[in-house]
Amino acid sequence: MIMDLHTHTRHSPDAAPDTVADRIAAANRLGLRYMAVTDHVEINRYYPAEYYHSKETEQFIYDSEAVFNGSAAEVAAEQAHCAPLILLCGIEIGQIPQDPALAARLYHDPRVDLVIGSVHELPGRPDFFFLDYESEDIPALIAAYFDEVLRLAQTDCYDILGHLTYGLRYLPNRAAYDLTPHLPVIDEIFRTVIAKGKAVELNGSNLKAAEPFTDPDISLIRRYRTLGGRYLTLSTDAHETKYLGYQMDVLEQMAREAGFSELTCFKKHRPFLIPL
Ligand SMILES: [Zn+2]
Ligand SMILES: [Zn+2]
Repeated sequence: MIMDLHTHTRHSPDAAPDTVADRIAAANRLGLRYMAVTDHVEINRYYPAEYYHSKETEQFIYDSEAVFNGSAAEVAAEQAHCAPLILLCGIEIGQIPQDPALAARLYHDPRVDLVIGSVHELPGRPDFFFLDYESEDIPALIAAYFDEVLRLAQTDCYDILGHLTYGLRYLPNRAAYDLTPHLPVIDEIFRTVIAKGKAVELNGSNLKAAEPFTDPDISLIRRYRTLGGRYLTLSTDAHETKYLGYQMDVLEQMAREAGFSELTCFKKHRPFLIPL
């Protein structure tokens, strides 16, 4: 198994209480070659709630700084004895366009190998997970989502564009949602990522769902390839150890079917290709 470049440990507020050492043991049992720990840093809630004159709630959890420091320290401590696995220090930064200067500072932290840039929420709104879709104008919501992803893609604070279709993930009837009106902005996102030498992620988090899907789906991965996309990463987005590497053979096969013969990994933000 080549890679799982998007995983969460006990430092992420929504993950199981698994340590990095637990994950290393599981990765070596699976024969995983590259694993990145990428705990959540929501850049718009990096400091404690008081800093923003706000209050912590179930929907708005603050102090990502503590997550980052805890996660990076634990990964650094384990990197010396994880062989044969290669353990990478990553971060999943949410909402980069809401504070690109702070995101740039984290990107340049010397411990960090790779940054996944994600949009989990629109400015002033909760995570898409918490939205009441009955009361939303869904095409407008999804259009706003992709506009925000484009703003993220235009920054330089990420290496990998995370789960491109996250804004669709919790739609009541996701499979029926027609992406056609959004293809121009999606193409613009892909062109931007390609021009900047960044990567797109094929995220298999929802392969465990009753109606399984990936973010994005294979048609968009093919589209990325057709536009000249070269850098692709695979990930489970595991929030507990049992999902590390989950159905990675399915993701690898999808990547091949979309025209990729190599996958991409990052060490200190430098991409390198691995035959698939
Ligand atoms: Zn995410
Ligand atoms: Zn994640």
